[in-house]
Amino acid sequence: MSEQFDIPFKSDLVPTVMEPGSKLKFRCYKGISCFNACCKSADIQLTPYDILRLKDNLGMSVTDFLKNHTVPFEMDKDGIPGIKLRTDNDGACLFVTDEGCSVYNDRPTACRYYPVGHMAIREAGATEDEARYFLVREDHCKGHEEDREISVTDYRKEQQVEQYDQINREWMQLILKKKSAGPSIGRPSDTSLQFFFMCCYDMDRFRRFVLSDSFKASYDMDDAFYATVEKEDLALMSFGIRLLKQILFGDETIAVKPGAEEKRLKERREILEMRRKAEIEIHRQKEEQQKKDVLS
Ligand code: SF4
Ligand code: SF4
Repeated sequence: MSEQFDIPFKSDLVPTVMEPGSKLKFRCYKGISCFNACCKSADIQLTPYDILRLKDNLGMSVTDFLKNHTVPFEMDKDGIPGIKLRTDNDGACLFVTDEGCSVYNDRPTACRYYPVGHMAIREAGATEDEARYFLVREDHCKGHEEDREISVTDYRKEQQVEQYDQINREWMQLILKKKSAGPSIGRPSDTSLQFFFMCCYDMDRFRRFVLSDSFKASYDMDDAFYATVEKEDLALMSFGIRLLKQILFGDETIAVKPGAEEKRLKERREILEMRRKAEIEIHRQKEEQQKKDVLS
């Protein structure tokens, strides 16, 4: 049995599986008859690194980028959160112009790969995942009729996707591991899904969380770590994935301060007890008021 990634775009056609050395006959250029057709029916899933590249390209914060340019979706039945590029009502990417892609140098991984799709699979018993490629032919894409052959390896180089793959790898492993973990007992709580979303995508909020007193009281990190994640998005993104691996799968790579967990549980118990007492008091006051209303 193997697990695989969802294909990051919709197609009714069965894709052809390819090896790195397999050749595809394809060329895309400005002036081709179908220019921009793919971007006018865009269904693009974003990786955490895609988000960082795009928000830098647009000169905006992650918060504003997520709000203005993305839509959330559920990657599986357990509700693992994913992010897609927002489109207009006709399905066109908001970045497509008559001249082509307006964020071309920082376009997402799925856009770089198209019409090659890629996925990670893990064979039964294997400890490492492996990359697999496939070719998708869609009627609107005339690039397949062009007279150029190129191997998957060279196509990846041409599209400068190798750096993206290298940085995306840890996140893809995390998703693969989560999906391979088998059915969970019930859907994860909204709080844990929100935490997953924050650690993967919402780097502004995740940075505030990591720099907060409560985080510092729980995890044993040095000053150099805090100085780095305060400034560097990539280091913060990578740490988010590490933290999720530790919390979800027990991959202990981040030192926890002695007694921090007990202290957190004690504080949580105290908060719950305070809430319980407050609810009892509200209930008592309501009952008293009802009695007064009956008597008056
Ligand atoms: S980001 Fe660029 S390449 Fe990707 S769908 Fe949008 S316009 Fe097309
Ligand atoms: S050749 Fe394919 S990828 Fe290139 S613009 Fe046309 S539809 Fe898009």
